[in-house]
Amino acid sequence: MDLGIKGKRALVCAASKGLGRGCAMALAEAGVDLVINARGEEALQKTAEEIRTTYGVTVVAVAADITTEEGRAAVLDAAGDIDILVNNAGGPPPGMWTDWDREDFIKALDANMLAPIAMIKALVPQMMERGWGRVVNITSQSVKSPIPQLGLSNSARAGLTGYVAGTSRQVAPYGVIINNMLPGIHATDRAKSLDQGVAENTGIDIDQARENRQQTIPARRYGTAEEFGATCAFLCSQHAGFIVGQNILLDGGAVNATL
Ligand code: NAP
Repeated sequence: MDLGIKGKRALVCAASKGLGRGCAMALAEAGVDLVINARGEEALQKTAEEIRTTYGVTVVAVAADITTEEGRAAVLDAAGDIDILVNNAGGPPPGMWTDWDREDFIKALDANMLAPIAMIKALVPQMMERGWGRVVNITSQSVKSPIPQLGLSNSARAGLTGYVAGTSRQVAPYGVIINNMLPGIHATDRAKSLDQGVAENTGIDIDQARENRQQTIPARRYGTAEEFGATCAFLCSQHAGFIVGQNILLDGGAVNATL
């Protein structure tokens, strides 16, 4: 399928690895020029070069922390005109509901609610002026079904979801489409480190921890960054203009719900 976005320009935040990288790859495959970001320079440059040589699109790489005001300013300075924004950042650490104090919540809100809102506020006005834009926010299945040990994620991402529900309807008349993607477990470094935590806490090895978790997923496997990226590229395509303010769950059926 031709996604109809060849020659558009996308900013993909937190994109040197994992789901962000999957989104950047899929957009590049559709002919989209990219600005990508992550904190670590080495992995970021490696991904940028791989995308350039594989797909022949332009890739600007900006090493910065997207959860800080200075980091966002550096990324936005380098970005210029952007048609497609993919918001992403690292997830908060696990723990239990009694563990977190105000500072922990502020950090989680900065990373997983206020950073994407700041990026939307910075880039959506120019998309509205041009009459076309796409925004995808990577959130989590925890928005639909809380994960006990990820209370910081459950809380901060619910805040972003509420903001997007209202905002997406206000910008849609101008051709700007905002949606959220809700990953269940995907085979990335983040999933590995959560499995490692379970292994250490329960005294099993990491392969067993992974196998146990796979058995809780109806698809009996983890998702891949490639299939996640393909869905992202579709939501950024010409064909997605009537999908507004939705929360698209990619979880292999893990959330046991009718709607
Ligand atoms: P990942 O494999 O650990 O990759 C995270 C990427 O984000 C890396 O490129 C990392 O590079 C970059 N990054 C992290 N913090 C950043 C920051 N402050 N500023 C800029 N870049 C940053 O993680 P993932 O699995 O792709 O997860 C992506 C998001 O989806 C996270 O919020 C995660 O909580 C959420 N999620 C993931 C899963 C899953 O199963 N994988 C499930 C539900 C939700 P640097 O470290 O170099 O900055």
